[in-house]
Amino acid sequence: MKFTDLGLTEPLLHAVRDQGYETPTPIQAQAIPAVLAGGDLMGGAQTGTGKTAGFTLPMLQRLMQHAAPRDARARVMIRALVLTPTRELAAQVEESVRAYGKYLPLRSMVMFGGVGMQPQIDALRRGVDILVATPGRLLDHHQQGTLDLSRVEIFVLDEADRMLDMGFIHDIKKVLAILPPRRQNLLFSATFSDDIKALADRLLNQPALIEVARRNADADTVAQTVHPVGRERKKELLRHLILAGDWHQVLVFMRTKHGANRLTEWLNEHDVSAMAIHGNKSQSARTKALADFKSGDLRVLVATDIAARGIDIDQLPHVVNYELPNVPEDYVHRIGRTGRAGASGEAISLVCLDEEGFLRDIEKLVRHPIARRTIAGFEPPAGERAEPIVLGRRMTIGAGAARGGRRDAGREPRRDGHPPHGPGRAPAPRLTQDPHDAHGAARTAARHDRAGAGHATQPAPHGQPHGRRDRPQPAPRGSTPKR
Ligand code: AMP
Repeated sequence: MKFTDLGLTEPLLHAVRDQGYETPTPIQAQAIPAVLAGGDLMGGAQTGTGKTAGFTLPMLQRLMQHAAPRDARARVMIRALVLTPTRELAAQVEESVRAYGKYLPLRSMVMFGGVGMQPQIDALRRGVDILVATPGRLLDHHQQGTLDLSRVEIFVLDEADRMLDMGFIHDIKKVLAILPPRRQNLLFSATFSDDIKALADRLLNQPALIEVARRNADADTVAQTVHPVGRERKKELLRHLILAGDWHQVLVFMRTKHGANRLTEWLNEHDVSAMAIHGNKSQSARTKALADFKSGDLRVLVATDIAARGIDIDQLPHVVNYELPNVPEDYVHRIGRTGRAGASGEAISLVCLDEEGFLRDIEKLVRHPIARRTIAGFEPPAGERAEPIVLGRRMTIGAGAARGGRRDAGREPRRDGHPPHGPGRAPAPRLTQDPHDAHGAARTAARHDRAGAGHATQPAPHGQPHGRRDRPQPAPRGSTPKR
């Protein structure tokens, strides 16, 4: 299969050649003809599969098939809207739109919160064909009357699963309500929970279904290793791996913004250049960190899950889970940053005793054990015992499995803060302080990140505190909560 077999016009093929792509990826081979045919599409595709070009190329071609509508002042009107969960993803999708549309007379624009409204208003006034946006800022513009979506023909919901995880369902419904009813809808999601299926039912009309990778599969181009390590030795082990391996572009994942800041400081004090990227950073700091990292000026980028979503770096060789995520699917998303589009990559996880439960959940999800390799001198010290993991001010997950928290929620914690089991055994999971399940905790943590990112522009409905809206219902006892 070649790009020339897909029905794309020469300006698009030319732009694809400029990118250096020779053959379409599987999602591109399937999605491009389907979208060109004009129908709705439900695409199951993980990050790194080439899905952005999969929807952008045919979208651009369809927009070229007839003249753009113009408003009273003869300015082109928005005909394609792409919604993404994060600013970084929005920026990257719009960059792709520009790259693939470089030989076409179409205008694109990216819109997200955390930056001034006025330049966005000015850009809208100049006329835009394709808008790539995060939901909060889009609705702000709509409420202020600075945005007209009445001529949208193509609507793309990218990374729909992450949108729902971040609590955007109300915003998505509001956006749908202001779009014209006749349009082509494309929905992309890495996972298909019941919530996603419900959204798809509402959004899509007899969609073509394309799924290119097994749900929650981990890319087989990524070599995965776990290094068991003492809780207090992680920093030194990370530095050791970077220096001994002569790694020059390392994406490091943390669970919290605070942890990301502390690790960044420590690395810089120990001769490893690092910057943090998370929701409390200004947009300009995030953009600079990403640019320096991409260009190779910065050796380590330390990121939280939300901030890292959508970061797209060709040939990123090393991803390190400095802390394992408490939501197993996030592991798959994290390691998907490397080994993209067929290149090989390495994903390293530094795992202390507290995280053994998270590791078990991840291995269950990816359906294979992950090789463990102890690095001499960094192994967990004899007698170290698992401790609860603090996810935020209100949430502590008992040492062990995040997912199992509910199974054991009624058990009295030990007063000394250690789990009920003795050392050396897999500790029982426990959730303290906050009664909702660990999955809910993860989502709430995600919202905190988002709120910090300046996306929290929508007031919570019915006067609820922001982080409390549409809290997921706890899963039935013994079941695995689905995202
Ligand atoms: P995506 O899944 O859209 O985030 O894309 C993942 C990565 O694959 C990006 O870095 C793209 O530049 C790259 N890519 C997309 N399509 C192709 C292709 N046909 N051949 C090689 N690389 C590609």
